Amino acid sequence: MSIPAYPEPALTSTNRPLIEGWRRGELMLQRCSACSEIIFFPRELCPRCWSSELTWERSSGKGMVVSFSRVYSHVTEPFVVESPTVLAEIALTDGGVLLARVITTEPEAMQSGIGVELVPMPEAARYPLPTFRPIV
Ligand SMILES: [Zn+2]
Repeated sequence: MSIPAYPEPALTSTNRPLIEGWRRGELMLQRCSACSEIIFFPRELCPRCWSSELTWERSSGKGMVVSFSRVYSHVTEPFVVESPTVLAEIALTDGGVLLARVITTEPEAMQSGIGVELVPMPEAARYPLPTFRPIV
């Protein structure tokens, strides 16, 4: 029996660098040229100063869990069979905060403050959005 695929995000001109970067296993984030804010999720205007002068840069993908939720109720495969999944707010070491899934074999051991890193290729190719794992 094959594992069902994850739903794919809709590709837009605004999110294309994030989605295509992740397909290479890279975390690409926007930075505002006017105020230096790192922006997640992708937008056309900086949410801090409303500038449209946004550039893309590669993040190290290392960070720390600020807060998280264990999600037990899903309606979409393959999340149903993977429950509980962990969705976390992650503060990146090189700046920026994002929401992302953390893959762990021990969701009950998840804690705020633990270090996380991007899931590396080739495993990363399985996930349609940037995905993290605990640093052990
Ligand atoms: Zn700005």
